[in-house]
Amino acid sequence: MSGTSSVVVEFDAVSKTYPCGVAAVREVSLRIGRGELVGVVGPSGSGKSSMLNLMGSLDRPTSGRVLVDGHDVARLSDRELSALRATRIGFVFQQFHLGVGVPVLDAVADGLLYTGVPMRRRRARAAAALARVGLSHRLDHLPQQLSGGERQRVAVARAVVGKPSVLLADEPTGNLDSASGAAVLDLLRELHASGTTVVVITHDREIASGLPRRIDMRDGRLVADTTQVTSGGAPR
Ligand code: ADP
Ligand code: MG
Repeated sequence: MSGTSSVVVEFDAVSKTYPCGVAAVREVSLRIGRGELVGVVGPSGSGKSSMLNLMGSLDRPTSGRVLVDGHDVARLSDRELSALRATRIGFVFQQFHLGVGVPVLDAVADGLLYTGVPMRRRRARAAAALARVGLSHRLDHLPQQLSGGERQRVAVARAVVGKPSVLLADEPTGNLDSASGAAVLDLLRELHASGTTVVVITHDREIASGLPRRIDMRDGRLVADTTQVTSGGAPR
């Protein structure tokens, strides 16, 4: 397997047209290198989520080529795709996606279900991931007993517990007040600083302008790809 290449995600002229005829992604080419922190911005409907789903192999392109860790997504069987997602990709969504009755420690340990890690190790690693997001004191809590910001930190812990090649976050602060949102963003920065590759969709231009690289989408097209000098998010 080719987990050592410096390119984690590669798009070659990728398009996605949904069966209803909507061309959500049009001829996008890009490369995301290992260790990058990339913001994807654009108005609602510009194709950001569609693009992230393609990066995460949740969807297949209509044309063009998507490579994740060097693997051409279109050439993988469903089983290989599931394995790729389980071991190399971490997802965080706007609506947390935590099971209502599932305690925090188990929710995060479940992030390792399909990775072949034995149960005991799963729980130990989940505890470590929760410590990393500052939630060691909430292991037995249920999601509904947590604030929105805490829930999203659990979701981040679950996404990174398997040490994925890339963390994909779709509007992770969209349901949070600005203070909790800023804390989640800080967490993504910390993960990036410790080596995780992060792609984060946001419609918040202020957040996006604080990231080292910004990709702008408009009507399904990549219209700008900018390396930025960051202010607030300077390397520590
Ligand atoms: P964004 O995340 O930037 O708001 P999306 O990728 O969700 O944009 O959507 C891009 C376009 O594709 C929109 O016009 C949307 O309505 C359409 N779209 C998104 N998902 C689907 C789908 N599953 N089936 C049909 N059309 C979709
Ligand atoms: Mg979206």
